[in-house]
Amino acid sequence: MSIKNLKKYFTIQSGLFNNSTNYVRAVDDISFNIYKGETLGLVGESGCGKSTTGKILVNLLKPTEGEILFCGKNIKELTKKDRRKLSKNIQIIFQDPYASLNPRMTIGDIIAEPMRVNKIDNKDNLNKKVLNLLECVGLASYHKDRYPHEFSGGQRQRVGIARAISVSPKLIVCDEPVSALDVSIQAQVLNLLYDLQREFHLTYLFIAHGLNVVKHISNRVGVMYLGKIVEIADSDILYKSCKHPYTQALLSAIPIPDPNMKGKRILLKGDIPSPINPPSGCRFHTRCPKCMNICKEKQPNMINLSKNHVVACHLYDY
Ligand code: SF4
Repeated sequence: MSIKNLKKYFTIQSGLFNNSTNYVRAVDDISFNIYKGETLGLVGESGCGKSTTGKILVNLLKPTEGEILFCGKNIKELTKKDRRKLSKNIQIIFQDPYASLNPRMTIGDIIAEPMRVNKIDNKDNLNKKVLNLLECVGLASYHKDRYPHEFSGGQRQRVGIARAISVSPKLIVCDEPVSALDVSIQAQVLNLLYDLQREFHLTYLFIAHGLNVVKHISNRVGVMYLGKIVEIADSDILYKSCKHPYTQALLSAIPIPDPNMKGKRILLKGDIPSPINPPSGCRFHTRCPKCMNICKEKQPNMINLSKNHVVACHLYDY
């Protein structure tokens, strides 16, 4: 998948007679690729636009501007039939496993629904496939007739994963799939996603708050701040020698599981500014410990530091 100059602005009306129009610039001109078979981690604070990006990719939101190419085809130019095929190939796992499952449907019906909608197999085969999928995600066959409220958070997320892989997609957008789970369960779900990727040759866009969650699952990581991608690199490069001050601050926030080792934490000042009225120049300049005069006036371009490392920061303008 190739994403080019993608923008998503939400319109907000204000004033006594709704006569003033403003825009929430949730995603503001981002470009990146997701390669076949890889996991691309997308990380940033709440409100940076990462979930909005994920929802655009699965066609839950329409972009304001920009192009999305999937397997070489521009999504905007697809026929209705091709769009249906595309929606089968790109699935999503949501953050809240409870809110994303219909409480009135049994687990079996929830998992079978995408196959029914896409007219895959007859009723008997569907039943077999549901049992198979339950086994794939570590649930038992008797869970098929139960309802979502009878499950724990981790089990519900397993159901969400089974539903996503039921139609054999090529790409899955994992929208913070472990954020709502206990830490011990997070590891189980991450391991499950990793195993399924190997088994079914899946490609993931893995959205998360912090760099610690995506560390072990991602081949490459992109960091977003206030609607922009500020750095994107191979995982080993990013975790060893990230260059953007925001990525460095996020990395310093990862806890070190050794009481004798002390990391140097970079504390950012203030809150993330409003996406309605983002700061001029570099959007991070109001919180950046390395801010220079040029940062307040000129927006930094994406700079190629090496083949697999791109950063948007004036510190690397040569
Ligand atoms: Fe900081 Fe300037 Fe780089 Fe922005 S461009 S991250 S303000 S040094």
